[in-house]
Amino acid sequence: NSLSGLAACAAGFVINNNVLVVAGCLVGTSGVILTIIMCKAMNRSLANVLFSGFGAAPAASAGAAGSTMQGELKPISAEDTFAVLEAARQVVIIPGYGMAVSQAQHVVRELAEMLENNGAEVRFAIHPVAGRMPGHMNVLLAEANVPYEQLVEMDAINPMMPSMDVAIVIGANDVVNPAAARDKSSPIYGMPIINAHEARTVICLKRGKGAGFSGLENQLFLLPNTRMLYGDAKASLQSVVSEFKSLANT
Ligand code: NAP
Repeated sequence: NSLSGLAACAAGFVINNNVLVVAGCLVGTSGVILTIIMCKAMNRSLANVLFSGFGAAPAASAGAAGSTMQGELKPISAEDTFAVLEAARQVVIIPGYGMAVSQAQHVVRELAEMLENNGAEVRFAIHPVAGRMPGHMNVLLAEANVPYEQLVEMDAINPMMPSMDVAIVIGANDVVNPAAARDKSSPIYGMPIINAHEARTVICLKRGKGAGFSGLENQLFLLPNTRMLYGDAKASLQSVVSEFKSLANT
């Protein structure tokens, strides 16, 4: 985005068009500011982002990380997910790119309301680079009328994670990858993450074994306290919400 602005600015000089120069400058400068914010959120330098080839060779990277992968993926049904959530009192929802892909934000809000009606305290943990653009999760959740007070930034939610009964990871992968904190050989080592693995139970919603943006394996999915709710996030959440509705009707 930033480079397109700078290119427009340069074109403005060439064709002697002041409007193009000013507009290009604004786009270029705001893009640079955003880039710096994103680099900070990923704990990487601009040079590292531009030249390190991050995500350029997913097979090799996944292989390197995959060698340390231990454990097995444990699927869970929507019915069992409902049973876990029904008993939970502290729930954190961690949205990622997959929530945006499946457009699950409205049904997520519905689930959060049902959990609250059931006596649980619900928070949304927001990672600064979750999704594919700055503020992606904030925009989607605001669109679904999730109360702003329920959105908790990464630095504020992490100290609370050990007290969470359930962490629901909705289409997030890189932003909850413990390798970023533990594995010095990982390309994402040093990137701050949301510590989903510290919750008592973690339920991950994704369609299959697809990697995230970085192309890396994620040990979180193999931990003993993690269960995988497979399927499109919106459809999976709708099934869980239906279970809550049938409970309310009985
Ligand atoms: P992610 O690491 O890209 O992972 C997204 C996950 O969503 C995938 O593992 C995928 O697994 C799952 N998914 C995709 N479609 C789905 C669907 N319909 N239903 C359920 N799950 C679905 O996402 P993230 O954790 O949000 O991390 C963001 C990444 O993007 C970071 O690496 C960040 O650096 C990068 N990035 C961010 C920005 C920004 O400005 N926010 C910009 C550029 C890059 P399945 O295929 O198995 O379903």
